[in-house]
Amino acid sequence: MACGCCGTDARPLRTGCSGNCARCAHPCAASRPAPAAKSASSGHTFSIASSPTAIERLRILSGDARYDLSCACGTQGDERVRNERGDRWIYPVTLPNGGTSAFLRTLVDNRCSSDCAYCPLRSDQDVRRCLLDPEEIAALFLDYLRQRKVFGIFLTSSLSDDPDRSMARMIDTAAILRRRHGFRGYVHLKILPGASDAAMQEALKLADAVSLNLEAPTQRRFQVLSQRKDYIADIVEPMKKLARWTSREGPFSRVGLTTQFVVGAAGESDFELVRTMGALYGKLGLSRAYFSAYQPGGGAAHLPGERNPASMGPDPLTREHRLYQSDFLLRKYGFSADEIPFGEDGNLVLDKDPKEVWAALHPERFPVDLDTADKFELLRVPGLGPVFVDRILKIRRSGGRIRHLAQIGDPWRLNRALPWIKQSA
Ligand code: SF4
Repeated sequence: MACGCCGTDARPLRTGCSGNCARCAHPCAASRPAPAAKSASSGHTFSIASSPTAIERLRILSGDARYDLSCACGTQGDERVRNERGDRWIYPVTLPNGGTSAFLRTLVDNRCSSDCAYCPLRSDQDVRRCLLDPEEIAALFLDYLRQRKVFGIFLTSSLSDDPDRSMARMIDTAAILRRRHGFRGYVHLKILPGASDAAMQEALKLADAVSLNLEAPTQRRFQVLSQRKDYIADIVEPMKKLARWTSREGPFSRVGLTTQFVVGAAGESDFELVRTMGALYGKLGLSRAYFSAYQPGGGAAHLPGERNPASMGPDPLTREHRLYQSDFLLRKYGFSADEIPFGEDGNLVLDKDPKEVWAALHPERFPVDLDTADKFELLRVPGLGPVFVDRILKIRRSGGRIRHLAQIGDPWRLNRALPWIKQSA
């Protein structure tokens, strides 16, 4: 029997329960007394004895999706802040081509049977549990789509004892949007640890991108985070299959594959994270790795990030930022993971970007001549990114020379490059 307030059917209700949560032991949001409200006209207080609507459940579930902040759709730091002020399920995102868009992003179900020690939704926590069914999510999304408030959807879910059952809620939603309503925009679906091959392939048929979160860089670190999930069988092996299926030669080559790491919770070093990230790009052809700095407070007491927040480094958000810069060096600048420099503690230097640290360690590679250096030599210059390098190469291809920095961009922004370059003129 499904709960009358939230539709939950996984937890046993009292025998004979009518579905009225006010009289039952069902531990969902609506089983708690509704807050008293004050009438604007009479000033009297009264209780609202209604069940959570779909939009109220969306508010709960999208709020819980913040534990998965490194969303695989390019959400940036300032966008997170803006997002907190508005409808929390609408995420402004930066697209790979530099444009911007907005996605509806939510958990479809927060009833979880897993034990991820960093996650406030783990099964032994007393949080409001509810779900949205596929028809409800599709209707809410289509309504926002019609209002042109969103252009894509990102669905994730907690994990039940049967991962495929949890996956089905996301897959069914995507199928309604794609097949019944002909939606052709962006769909991102989370692949849950332990999902079957059939469920993963069904998600790949419907999605533009999928993500399976590694959370930690090694099995040893992962065991600090979860005892119920098997790092190799539930995550690494499925990741290899997904990589094969989404590779250029695979049947789902148009689908992007991403992952996420929780940074700092398990006491891992940046060296471990970057080395694993390098293998994911080099061996598996992953599209992107994302990082989410662990925020102490909601995790289990045994976590290194909880026992000793200092173990995460003096500034977790700057650490996250340096990891993203290393990610760029691997994906866009031709660096290998072996070339990324670390301090003696195995972590990235916080007060300088990793390219600048690398350049200082390799004086023999500088100064770089803007008129003769090849693309990858130019990309190693601190302060020169792919856009500036493309402009330099374009000028050179048309027979020109770089006589002053204003030719390639704002000289003020290029100041950082000055100690590392040589201009022939
Ligand atoms: S599977 Fe882990 S991360 Fe996901 S909701 Fe459950 S406890 Fe949280």
